[in-house]
Amino acid sequence: MSPCSVTEPPHAAVELAMDLIRCPSVAPVDGGAQLYLRERFSKNGFDVHPVDVDGIMNTWARIGDHGPLVVFAVHSDVVPSGDVGDWTNPPFDPCVRDGMLFGRGAADMKGPLSAAVVAVERFLACQNRTLPVRIGFLVAGDEEPVQNHGTQDLIRFLKSRGESLDYCIVTEPTSVSVFGDTVKVGRRGSINGFLSVQGKQGHAAYPEFARNPVHQSMRILHAMTERLWDEGDSNFPPAGFQITNMHSGTGAANVIPARLEVQFNVRHGPGLTLEQVDGKVRELLDMAGLQYKLECVSDALPFRVKQGQLTQICIESIEEVVGMQPQLSTGGGTSDARFVAPHCRELVEFGLVGDTSHHVDERVAVDELVQLTEVYQGMLSRISIAGEG
Ligand SMILES: [Zn+2]
Repeated sequence: MSPCSVTEPPHAAVELAMDLIRCPSVAPVDGGAQLYLRERFSKNGFDVHPVDVDGIMNTWARIGDHGPLVVFAVHSDVVPSGDVGDWTNPPFDPCVRDGMLFGRGAADMKGPLSAAVVAVERFLACQNRTLPVRIGFLVAGDEEPVQNHGTQDLIRFLKSRGESLDYCIVTEPTSVSVFGDTVKVGRRGSINGFLSVQGKQGHAAYPEFARNPVHQSMRILHAMTERLWDEGDSNFPPAGFQITNMHSGTGAANVIPARLEVQFNVRHGPGLTLEQVDGKVRELLDMAGLQYKLECVSDALPFRVKQGQLTQICIESIEEVVGMQPQLSTGGGTSDARFVAPHCRELVEFGLVGDTSHHVDERVAVDELVQLTEVYQGMLSRISIAGEG
């Protein structure tokens, strides 16, 4: 299946990505990204619905009256750049150098978002009769912060309109080593633990009159990092335990600290629950005789999507463009797919290599952005043919 030839300027996805990167959309600030996209969708004939909640701008855009509803779930916000001086080029002043597009959001996800928009535009330009599918864009303005108002508010909006999704393509960066190697068909859950171990402050020269919470905790914390928390299964990799923050001490060299504060994060499949993690950590701390306070909180539940036609179409479209069969995975971090998956028939996540996402000098290969556009366009063509058949 070859995409029809259109007379668009080359690399329209790169041009769009550069325009979007120029909008410094670090949530809750939008920086003009949502308005830019709303205007573009309107120009393309979409019905555009702003879904602005608590100062966060989100957009639902839809075109077509017949056939399955295919939705791209994207986000317009990016993470902060950090120290601008660390960047080779300013993070919000994109540039193409040595075949790479540089800028904050190039990979996550203004590049892939642009690939999806241009794929849809090219697909629409190829239609010379009634559109065989309905196409939507869920554009969240608040995906990166922990408190998510974006996709969840958009889903609430769709439910209030009785709009149900057939297929959803989430454009997060899912490729691991090379473009096209991985499609996500679910995600692991995430549990955060907040631990405070109580000791007794004292003089470093007189440890017999103090109780050092760092010394008391070291062995047991090490055991937690080494432990096999859950073996995983055919759908999910083994659970991972990481200490993410640790603080103790007054700053003085001769004072035994009174307290040790530890934060940890557990990534897990359905075989491990919040209650199990909380219970096991308490058991280990009790066995070591520690005085402590512990709170464990789940911030994402694991999920696995139904695999059907959309997964197959995604695999075929990648094979056609990249010449490689992707593997199906639930590894890596969380994404907004977990909010959309319960409300659509089938969902996949596919995007670029994400190794520079959230990094200084975030970048993507221009060739891969062009290929991603072709994959998304191939998916739309296949869905419309399947819908007619
Ligand atoms: Zn993202």
